[in-house]
Amino acid sequence: MGILDGKTILVTGVTMTSSIAYKVAEIAQQEGARVLVSNFGRALSLTHRVVKRLKPSPDVIELDVTSQEHLDALADVLRDLGVERLDGVVHSIAFANPETALGGAFLQTPFEDVSTSVHVSAYSLVSLTMACKPLFGETASVVGLTFDARVSWPAYDWMGVSKAALESASRYLARYLGPEGVRSNIVAAGPVDTVAKKAIPGSHSFNDIWAERAPLGWDASDATPTAKAVVALLSDWFPATTGEMVHVDGGLHSTGA
Ligand code: NAP
Repeated sequence: MGILDGKTILVTGVTMTSSIAYKVAEIAQQEGARVLVSNFGRALSLTHRVVKRLKPSPDVIELDVTSQEHLDALADVLRDLGVERLDGVVHSIAFANPETALGGAFLQTPFEDVSTSVHVSAYSLVSLTMACKPLFGETASVVGLTFDARVSWPAYDWMGVSKAALESASRYLARYLGPEGVRSNIVAAGPVDTVAKKAIPGSHSFNDIWAERAPLGWDASDATPTAKAVVALLSDWFPATTGEMVHVDGGLHSTGA
């Protein structure tokens, strides 16, 4: 018996085996789910290669969350792949221009780059959820990923602002879709050494902060604790939890210094 037995889950953001979403897909399968994964254009060939390691190899969908065409077609694409009901969606997507919106350029960032960051990293939680909604049954679970944006971090800049928007958007999804049985929650992970993290100039400093301050310690090379929390939130083991942000950060958020 797995905690996702009988459930069908869409996991976005699988590019490499290092992607948090890859680990989520792996553990969700181990827990009994049928998993479908998505990624967008330029990385799709990588995704196809990477998912071959998963057993069974999941169907791969092309989904650029900034494309209204892709979003409009998503429910039909899923139906064509035999999905009658979708029980969960994992939003594991973020992007900000590393040269202008990250790494210390905060005070000079043009709005165009802010807009892209918020569109891809925050607004898409809502547009993705609404694109999947026609396939939701009596209950469904949406889970997104943040780097705790209640505070500022070195170098994180407009991604921090975008994550604050993501966290808030999740609470509004919880408010608006709760009456329809949809839960929306966020996992606030500590630093994980992925492509997205390495693209942030100066992000190595996060590992130093965690090495010094996380009471439980923290292994930035292992996405398993983060992925397990995502899978738990997808399951029926959090039936009355929504609008929540669960920290998976070795306890760092609970410390003052
Ligand atoms: P990742 O492997 O690079 O995943 C990010 C994904 O977002 C990639 O698959 C990327 O595709 C995709 N993406 C970017 N723009 C997109 C678009 N327009 N449409 C669809 N997909 C798009 O890095 P990750 O660290 O696992 O990131 C997953 C999530 O965890 C992100 O929300 C990230 O902010 C969050 N998070 C990460 C950390 C960390 O330390 N790594 C900590 C806390 C939270 P491409 O590869 O093609 O660009």
